[in-house]
Amino acid sequence: MNKIWVGTNWKMTKTIEEGIAYTKDLVDISKSISSNINLFIIPSYTLLIPVRETIENTNVLMGAQNMHWKDAGAFTGEISPRMLDEIGIDLIELGHSERRQYYNETDMDINKKVLAALNYQIKPLVCIGENKEEKEHHISKETLASQLKISLKDVNCEQANELLIAYEPVWAIGEHGEIAESDYVAEIHAFLRETLGELFGEVGIDIPLLFGGSVNQDNFMDYIQVPDVNGLFIGRSAWDTESFKVILNKLSNYVG
Ligand code: PEP
Repeated sequence: MNKIWVGTNWKMTKTIEEGIAYTKDLVDISKSISSNINLFIIPSYTLLIPVRETIENTNVLMGAQNMHWKDAGAFTGEISPRMLDEIGIDLIELGHSERRQYYNETDMDINKKVLAALNYQIKPLVCIGENKEEKEHHISKETLASQLKISLKDVNCEQANELLIAYEPVWAIGEHGEIAESDYVAEIHAFLRETLGELFGEVGIDIPLLFGGSVNQDNFMDYIQVPDVNGLFIGRSAWDTESFKVILNKLSNYVG
């Protein structure tokens, strides 16, 4: 696997004006980074159309932060795969720990969303991660295997080619997150790779595994050098383009 995936979820942070300015800067940066980096941004819904226009004919990919699994219906406040497909998104982030924690999303829900996305040829970026208690009880691997097995149920090997998985330990995410040791990340990514192999055979070897959780300018090189880390999913350190640029330029030199 030569290419790496690098992207950021903006969460609920940017106005339309801020998001467009960011995207214009990123498009400029993207012109000088390696074609071995698949670069993506995940704006809020209000920004999907303007960002789509701004990244037209560039290498920057765009995703959305969540969606329902049904095409249409009485689901107030939700957005459907059909609606997102109409905008032309490349990927859909599913199962972020904040969705699980604050909106009670379960692996069963995520599974329905994964299948719906695949039906529309939208790449699912499935986020998994153990929380602090699970880690302290030494059930990280069991938790992660169960998240993968439930959320990817009924995905066939051909569809599995379209998956992206982000391992984001919940205890490492955000302002109060702890920095994960790269040895720990290596152990977990090796385990995830093995589990994907169990689920999808040969195809499992090529499913990109991204790492996320307090990735910053000081630690990103440690993570990207871990075997089976095929990309980085970055929050705060990528929310301003100056900081993201430093990371992208170094990664670009690294991947060649
Ligand atoms: C995230 O919330 O998915 C994330 C990776 O955030 P941060 O990098 O800010 O910890």
